[in-house]
Amino acid sequence: MGQQVAGAEQVDVDELTEEQARQELARLAAILNRANRAYYQLDAPEITDAEYDALKLRNAAIEARFPHLKRPDSPSDVVGAAPAEGFAKVTHQVRMYSLANAFSSEDIREFDDSIRRFLGLGDTVVDYTAEPKIDGLSLSLRYEAGRLVQAATRGDGEVGENVTANAMTIGEIPHRLEGAPALLEVRGEVYMSHADFAALNEAQAARGEKTFANPRNAAAGSLRQLDVEVTRSRPLKFFAYAWGAVSEPLGRTQMEVLERFREMGFPVNPLTVLCRGPDEMIAHYARIEAQRAMLGYDIDGVVYKVNDLGLQHRLGYRSTSPRWAIAHKFPAETAWTRLEKIDIQVGRTGALSPVARLTPVTVGGVVVSNATLHNEDYIAGRDASGNPIRGGRDIREGDWVKVYRAGDVIPKIADVDLSRRPEWAVPYAFPTRCPECGSEAIREEGDSVRRCTGGVICPAQAVEKLKHFVSRPAFDIEGLGARQVEQFYLLSWVREPADIFTLAGRDRAGAKALLTLDEVLARISRGSEETARARLAAALGMEAFDHDEAARRFAARSTTPLSRQPGWGEKSAANLFAAIDERRRIPLARLIFALGIRHVGEAASNLLALHYGTWEAFEAAITAAQARTGPEWEELLSIDGVGQVMASSLVTAFAQEHERASIDRLVAMLEVEAAQPPDTSGSPIAGKTIVFTGTLERMTRAEAKVRAEALGAKVSGSVSAKTDLVVAGPGAGSKAKKARELGVEIIDEDAWLKLIEGT
Ligand code: AMP
Ligand code: ZN
Repeated sequence: MGQQVAGAEQVDVDELTEEQARQELARLAAILNRANRAYYQLDAPEITDAEYDALKLRNAAIEARFPHLKRPDSPSDVVGAAPAEGFAKVTHQVRMYSLANAFSSEDIREFDDSIRRFLGLGDTVVDYTAEPKIDGLSLSLRYEAGRLVQAATRGDGEVGENVTANAMTIGEIPHRLEGAPALLEVRGEVYMSHADFAALNEAQAARGEKTFANPRNAAAGSLRQLDVEVTRSRPLKFFAYAWGAVSEPLGRTQMEVLERFREMGFPVNPLTVLCRGPDEMIAHYARIEAQRAMLGYDIDGVVYKVNDLGLQHRLGYRSTSPRWAIAHKFPAETAWTRLEKIDIQVGRTGALSPVARLTPVTVGGVVVSNATLHNEDYIAGRDASGNPIRGGRDIREGDWVKVYRAGDVIPKIADVDLSRRPEWAVPYAFPTRCPECGSEAIREEGDSVRRCTGGVICPAQAVEKLKHFVSRPAFDIEGLGARQVEQFYLLSWVREPADIFTLAGRDRAGAKALLTLDEVLARISRGSEETARARLAAALGMEAFDHDEAARRFAARSTTPLSRQPGWGEKSAANLFAAIDERRRIPLARLIFALGIRHVGEAASNLLALHYGTWEAFEAAITAAQARTGPEWEELLSIDGVGQVMASSLVTAFAQEHERASIDRLVAMLEVEAAQPPDTSGSPIAGKTIVFTGTLERMTRAEAKVRAEALGAKVSGSVSAKTDLVVAGPGAGSKAKKARELGVEIIDEDAWLKLIEGT
């Protein structure tokens, strides 16, 4: 620490001594970084925009004069207050998957059944490993020629964060391996023991630093540290249980691989056992649950994996989880608390979702203050068919409710205590108008959800659509998160996805706003004028809304470059525009998903992209399918995984004038990459359309279909002129006949197996 220099803040930049400059930069960093946090995280600016701008300019001027004094936490480089900036990204060579969940013994039997069905094993008993599900965070360790060269977090499964330097400080992770394949990615869980967690929190509290809610948060917070020395000081541990890319097989079974990990020097969980069939799995689960409290570290369930790696390979993967594994979760943690208020949130598709605001309560180590209430019926105490749930007890503001949470999912409310219901409590009246835009909110036949009918006029729907658009599985625009989207929307810099791509131009031209303040007010105050004013005031850094002052600030914001807006700097603004530019080229599947059409999720978007290949083909087909009859409609429905509901939703979106125009404006800005079929070099059936019919004897239909798709073929349920190949088993009837009439090639199962052999 340098000595205190009095009055440095009053000295002109040109006259500062080096020591004064150092002090001044420290002071400015403290003020500005604090202002950023207040602005972005608390939505409560502490200094005016003008003050902020002046301080930021002064900071930049000092840095220009004394470049070597620029601080690592310089406010010039800060975007919002996201702390995770700073880790490089790593694309996993082999995706990191999550796990499907089971909550009951029936789920486990169903899992085992589905595996035997898929593989066509009949009553054969399948062996499974049972491993404790460690509650930490997963880490992928890459060894080349036996040396640890990279460590990455899971991230979204495809891209994680490079935490190599941090992982190197964990004592249980070997830096060198003996007898390992040339390339080996070992995966496992980083965690913290209960004892270490308690000691850490005590030390943190003694130093006046923040404590962690639970060992998992502590482990994650300790690993993801920009300062490696902090990670080194934290007692992290590791268990190995899986692998990614490998240059040669590690064994024939899960157990053999775990044994190899142990020989190489990795900790492998000692409670791992082999179970023959579901009875043994269920019994083992009970034993682990009984020991849970004595283990000394957190586990949240038991993971079962098909032991035979050949079978694992045949079972393959769903979009985000392996078909050969499942996590049997422990029952949820619960706590009683007071329901203070029920709020309604409006989603992307207009759904009105009730949220319970709770008196904060700790549930399984995490403080919970919000819980979902699902829908109108759930609050009223009945299910979708009108049958009573919770014995018909409704939920009211003021009630005592039982909150539960399982894993990372949103907390839910399980029950209500009528004996503690206050006298004033009245049944909850679910709104029939959208609280955001005042439009009528209706329930369609058979829908449990009430939806705002405002469509494009509903600001909540527009903002949620934008948030979805920039989200990770969609356009994934770095620097444009939920908070920025809300701000940009309020300031009318971005009203719909297409506007994101014209923002840089408007920023350069000094005219970012697409509407005037009054137009914005008119647009967002249909629900409640008071809320609208309050929101704008907050966005403009005002304590209370004053029309003239707001108009002045609104205009100033529009003309001031983004790089000089609160929370932004030269670098972060440039980064944002670069990130947006990078996304002008976008894979078709991401684009389809990003449109946010109801019922069209990530998996469906992939299917649609693979089926139609290009945007032009997709768009033409969906437009032509509007009649809901004819070949394009039939083709849409023939895609395995696309049903009536999804198909209707798609064609409706493309038929609605406003929505369609908005999509067209967007696509005009983009270069859409054609769908990349899976790597099928050497596949004899890539790009072909195959129909399976009759009984297959050596492979189930499900497996045949998965294999064919993995090899780049399309599997269809019906034979047409577009069919390339029919695989017919015994008992094949009309489909084989039709194929013969159309002159489509027909082969039997043996020929099919030969065809895909070795692939
Ligand atoms: P989830 O995130 O709930 O889908 O669960 C998947 C996560 O469980 C993985 O990403 C791992 O971090 C974690 N996990 C803990 N123990 C195991 C285990 N023995 N096998 C596989 N995954 C595990
Ligand atoms: Zn609305």
